[in-house]
Amino acid sequence: MSDAAIFVVVFGGLFVLRIIAATIFFYYILPRGDRCPYCDTATIRVQPAGWDRLVPFLRSSWCHACGWEGLLRPGALTLEPAETKLPEPV
Ligand SMILES: [Zn+2]
Repeated sequence: MSDAAIFVVVFGGLFVLRIIAATIFFYYILPRGDRCPYCDTATIRVQPAGWDRLVPFLRSSWCHACGWEGLLRPGALTLEPAETKLPEPV
């Protein structure tokens, strides 16, 4: 095996391992369950165009209280209905 082939295999392997390690790390820093990471309100599951095809095991969520949207890991869901504060009538 030539030196160039060994170089490509070693550094290509390190590059792929770095991508795998980053994917695992970012998966585990995602919050678990259906609570908003900013305001701890129960979020609503939404159906985005591409995320469900790319990572179908993650929960695409939207927080109606603060407007946060993002991905959450599967976990315990809130059974109580989400409380919505409606604006006061003028
Ligand atoms: Zn929120």
